[in-house]
Amino acid sequence: MHEINSRRSFLQKCVSAGVTLAGGSLLLHSCNAKEKLSAKEAGSAPPVDPCSDYTGLSENDLKARQSMGYVKQSPIPEKQCGNCNLWLPPLAGKDCGACQLFKGPVYTAGHCTYWAPQV
Ligand code: SF4
Repeated sequence: MHEINSRRSFLQKCVSAGVTLAGGSLLLHSCNAKEKLSAKEAGSAPPVDPCSDYTGLSENDLKARQSMGYVKQSPIPEKQCGNCNLWLPPLAGKDCGACQLFKGPVYTAGHCTYWAPQV
């Protein structure tokens, strides 16, 4: 009889431990799922500054911007991208314009050494 109780007790402990492990595993999985959801939400948020988002530009594209001396804030208030002849205004729904000389977003208040007056 003592042997049966001992076996029953052992089996009950095994089942109890199994339930505890399964519960802990579910809890950890649910925490991990929340973290993944938060990361997805963060990834879907628009960039803080879309005019500085150079996603999709190659090394050469970035070098072209630099070689022309592009800066996001013109040091000469009367010579800005927004009044340059090579300026491409923002498309509908976009925050940044572009330049005919290189790829990527351009600030309206930007400037480069190729600034040309509008004709
Ligand atoms: S040429 Fe220079 S100043 Fe003119 S729009 Fe392009 S980056 Fe701006």
